[in-house]
Amino acid sequence: MSETPIRKPAAIELVALTKRYASGAAAVDGIDLRIAPGSYCCLLGPSGCGKSTTLRMIAGHETASEGDILLEGRNITGLPAAERGTAMMFQSFALFPHLSALDNVAFSLRMRGVAKDERILRAQELLDRVAMGPLAERKPAELSGGQQQRVALARALATQPRVLLLDEPLSALDPFLRVQMRAELRRWQKDLGLTFVHVTHSQEEAMALADTMVVMNRGRIEQVGAPREVYNAPSTEFVARFMGGHNVIETAAGKVAVRTDQLQVAPAGSAAAGLAGTVTDVEYQGTYVLLGLHATGAGGNGAVSAMLPEAVFASRPYATGESVQLSWAARQAHPLAA
Ligand code: ADP
Ligand code: MG
Repeated sequence: MSETPIRKPAAIELVALTKRYASGAAAVDGIDLRIAPGSYCCLLGPSGCGKSTTLRMIAGHETASEGDILLEGRNITGLPAAERGTAMMFQSFALFPHLSALDNVAFSLRMRGVAKDERILRAQELLDRVAMGPLAERKPAELSGGQQQRVALARALATQPRVLLLDEPLSALDPFLRVQMRAELRRWQKDLGLTFVHVTHSQEEAMALADTMVVMNRGRIEQVGAPREVYNAPSTEFVARFMGGHNVIETAAGKVAVRTDQLQVAPAGSAAAGLAGTVTDVEYQGTYVLLGLHATGAGGNGAVSAMLPEAVFASRPYATGESVQLSWAARQAHPLAA
């Protein structure tokens, strides 16, 4: 007799999940997705592509028009938010300014009918868990951004969720704090061993955080993979352009993506095959020099760019207006689906 392999259920599985609001095209259009337990998943895409709607349907703050949502194999599509095993962390943490850290956390337990003594005890435990125990009596204004985030995390953990949902939690922070906070989120996710589903429109943020990145466009999923897989081999023109750092080049075999740091530049007339081009821009950016180019080769490609390491540029500088030859290694050209 052969053994049936037991597939560990996904933390979250979406099956043909669709949301239609009263008017217009579907905001979320039949998406299928499996999110591995204990992983950090980022939903990434431009504004309006359906990220928040997807997250709100998982949370139970929005009904699904069609399709199913499974949490660890359990169908939660029709359950009220409080019975799903998910918790939500909102933008800028949404702490009550007039309540102490302890009371902020205890408040969510009160909403769940936990008795007073019990909720103080549990709130203190939760704050201890995120290393905020000693600051339990402080109000949000007396805490740093990082400390506020930890209070918000403790509050979200109060309901013992299996999956934590985060909708652009960092986007209202200044850039310096944002980078610090994302490192901390990542650390907590690993320490707690929970599944995080984090919505962001920032490629950089998603790449820094995600085990799995889900790139969305117009209510659909364009590509799913680890950040390196998606960045190194975008499967569609949309993903190549949205991720940045790629040129989309028309070739006889169709469109390909070539990373800007993999586009080779040589003086015109040199042996290399490839596209002819003209330098339109030279930007010094520290460790590298970014060349803006107008390609005039086979497909009449228009604007492309090349990133040259500073030393390479220094050994053979190019000037605006100069004619060049552009080429790339075959394995650096990723065919794009039409
Ligand atoms: P994202 O979070 O990726 O920016 P959303 O999920 O908020 O995108 O929105 C997806 C689409 O659904 C957009 O076109 C938006 O205008 C529309 N939408 C979002 N919420 C509502 C709503 N409550 N009623 C009607 N349309 C909505
Ligand atoms: Mg949104």
